[in-house]
Order: sequence, then structure tokens, then C-alpha cells
Amino acid sequence: MPESGFSTSLDPVDWGDLRRDGHRMLDDMFDHMETLRKQPVWRAPPPDRLSGICEALPREPMPLADVHAQFMRSILPYSSGNAHPGFMGWVQGGGTPVGMLAEMLAAGMNANLGGRDHMAIEVERQMVAWTRDLFGFPGSASGLFVTGTSAANFIGVLAARTRAAGPSVRCRGLAATGRHLTAYASAAVHGCVSRAMEMAGLGRDQLRVIPVDADHRIRIDALTRAITSDRANGLEPFLLIGTAGTVDVGAIDDLSALADLAEAEQLHFHIDGAFGALAMLAPELAPRLAGIERADSLAFDWHKWGQVPYDAGFLLVRDGEWLRQTFAADAAYLRRAERGLAGGDWWPCDHGPDLSRGFRALKTWFTLKTYGADAIGRAIAETVSLARMLAARVATEPELELLGPVPLNIVCFGYRSADADRLNASIVADLHEAGRVAPSLTTVGGRTAIRAAIVNHRTAAEDVDALVESVLALGRAARSRLAA
Ligand SMILES: *Cc1c(COP(=O)(O)O)cnc(C)c1O
Repeated sequence: MPESGFSTSLDPVDWGDLRRDGHRMLDDMFDHMETLRKQPVWRAPPPDRLSGICEALPREPMPLADVHAQFMRSILPYSSGNAHPGFMGWVQGGGTPVGMLAEMLAAGMNANLGGRDHMAIEVERQMVAWTRDLFGFPGSASGLFVTGTSAANFIGVLAARTRAAGPSVRCRGLAATGRHLTAYASAAVHGCVSRAMEMAGLGRDQLRVIPVDADHRIRIDALTRAITSDRANGLEPFLLIGTAGTVDVGAIDDLSALADLAEAEQLHFHIDGAFGALAMLAPELAPRLAGIERADSLAFDWHKWGQVPYDAGFLLVRDGEWLRQTFAADAAYLRRAERGLAGGDWWPCDHGPDLSRGFRALKTWFTLKTYGADAIGRAIAETVSLARMLAARVATEPELELLGPVPLNIVCFGYRSADADRLNASIVADLHEAGRVAPSLTTVGGRTAIRAAIVNHRTAAEDVDALVESVLALGRAARSRLAA
């Protein structure tokens, strides 16, 4: 028997041994999650970190328990911290124990959701139906799980291109059509949208970047003028991209006004709702998304505000046919059968770029069923209350200043100082190294801001208080150093 305890089939010789190791791994993970708050949000990987994992390709077996011990020692303690209640950097979800367990079940099934007739596909289909209903999309709507909103935005751009240029663009390429397709989004749009334009072969210069108002929402007047002027110059506006929850401050574009304009101008209306779209689950926030039900396509992540473990991006489109026209292919080895395993009438590989696909739907399905969608909505609403609390606290502290609007769950602020940009950057780095709270750094209105994006369901008032107290302490220390 090989030392690892595995036979040539890679299944264990003794399932009892594996069972013991597996239960230990599960318990270690529960312990980790249960004690997250007592751990640092982040610690720098140790200088000798490579000695922990840098080694030649292991040709010989090693007991599973030893590999797991190495994980516990060298990998787990040095995570990026997004599961921790003190994590407020960037916009990242916290994950849940239920999501973790569902991932284990999905890996155990090892389902491939490219297509064919099996129940995992039906679970993803059920997720599509729930998503369609949640956002008020019609019965013709369809969608699928993808890695994240970056991928979902890319697929949205491709679908819009197919609608504008016709399915023949897939053979001929855009250049052969002689069309000059232009897209529109606000200056606060996420960087992955320009990249989607690049990857689609449309070119990032064909994305018109429209200025925002004081609330970081796209200016409809400037947008209308840009479309008119492009048309006058022989260009062909085809795609309007609104954002529901900008990554900088969490602004939501006027989605109804954008839907009206897209309708009047006959443009495909796509929404990047990466984290913001799931505000739909919170009754007190949902009205702010009015107009989202009129989108032609909507990209968002279950792995941010939805708290589903990474990765779980999603694209919803008003008419499933647009995806089929963009992606469906006719290969002999993917032939459909009338009956048997090669049957099934919905093959996700016809609706997106991936053939082999994992079972992302399962962890999302488990999350919604186990906690209930309303509980996710309450966690979302709570992060918005915490952001409001933080903004109010900043407003009452004379040494602090708010540096942007706070429409949702993101607060940009800073310590007042003659040298504020440098000081705020150094405060954020100090906070990361101290390990109690981890905000990120951004630039708002040309100024360097400490950015607290409260997304994690574990974040509580005590974490927000710790953030304010730590920023005040670090700011004061810097001031007294300067005075000395
Ligand atoms: C996070 C984010 C993205 C990118 O989503 P990924 O899931 O990281 O690919 C796009 N747009 C906005 C507004 C985001 O917040």
C-alpha cells in the first residue's frame, strides 16, 4: 500500500482513515470560522513564507493529515481577511459556513454543468428562475452563473454586440461589418467594463465616459448630448451601461431615466450591479433600484453582498435567445439526443463562453434556502445602517472629514491634515499591519480617502467604532510627531 493510503484509483484503501482526516479538516475549519473575531484581520505572510510552500513537484505521496497540517500552518493564517468582521477593504463578501459545506458537497458530486440531462442543471435553472423573479424580469429571461461580474459584464457586452450587428458578426468579425459601435457609461464605471470592450474587439476608445454629478451618478444631460453628437458623426450608439452601486462610493445611477433613454435611442441597456443589485433583497433599499427590471441585461455577484463563497457571478438577460445567438455552437461531440444523458433542453454551454462549468448554483441555492432570502436582505440592510452610523460619527469628529457621499454601504473619509493624502495612505497601511480593521484606500474628487466598504455580514458596530478610534489615534500620533 502506498504511504499516502491511496490506491492507484486515488480512492483511499481505508475509508476509515480518510473519514478521520476529513472530520478533522472540517472541525478545524469550523474552529477557524468560530474564532475569526479573535484573529487578526490580516497578517503579513512571514518572510520565510516560501519555505512553507515552495518545493519541487511532489512525486511521492505524503499523508493527507500532513498536507492539511501544512495548510493550517502556512496558508490559512495568511488569508486576505475578507471573511473577518474587521474587513472593510474593497467590496468583498464574507462567505458563510453553510456556503462552505455546500461547496464541499458540490466538489463531492464533481458535477460538470456544461449541459446534459442531470439534476445539477435543474438547480442552476431554478436559480435562474428565482433571479428572474427577484429582479422582475419576464418569462423569456435567462441567465447563468459565471466567475464574477467582470465576466458577466463581458458577456453582456458580447450579447449587445450580437443584437446590434446580428449573429453573422460571429463569422465575419466586427471590422467586416463596417459598423462603428459605441457604448456609454459613467466616469465611475468599473474598470472591467473598458476591458470588456477591449476583449470584445470593440475597443476601449468606443466606450464613451460620461461625467457624473455630485452624487456620483451619470449625468443624463451629458449622456444625451454625447449620443446625439456621436450619431451626427456617423457613429452607431448601441449600448448603454448603468451602474447600480459604483465601486468608489456605492452610487446608483438613475436606472429609470437610463431605461427611458435606452428605449428612445434603441440601445441595449446593461446594468453593472456587481454588489448593489442584491439590495433588491432588502425591502427598505429595493425602491432605490427602480428601473432595474427594465434592463436588457444585468450583471451581479452572489459572492459580494449575497455572502456566497467565491466565486459566484451571475448574468441575467431579458431574452435568453440573445445568449444562444451569441454562443451556441454545433459540434458533433456536443450533439443533443432525444433521450438519455445527452438529452436535456438547456445546455449552459450554449449560453456562455465556458464548456466545463462547476456547480456554483449549489452553494447559492443552499444559502438562499438555509438562511432564507430575507435574512440575506437583512444582512445587506445592516451593512447600510453601519455605514450610515460611521458617516454620522465622522461628521461629529472635528479631526475627521467625509470625502464622498454615502448612498449605500461605502464611506470615504479622512483625517484632516495639511498633508492629508500622505497621512491617510499611511493610516491605512498602519491599520492593515495592526490587524484589527482593514479599510482600503481610494481617490475621491482627487483626494486620497480611507474607504470603508461594509459588505461582510459579520461586521458589527464594534468594528466601526474600532475603525474610528484607530484612525483618530493614528492621526493624533502623526500630528504629535510633526509637532515634536
Ligand atoms: C466588484 C465589482 C466588479 C467586478 O466584479 P468581480 O466579481 O470582481 O469580477 C464590477 N463592477 C463593480 C461595480 C464591482 O463592485
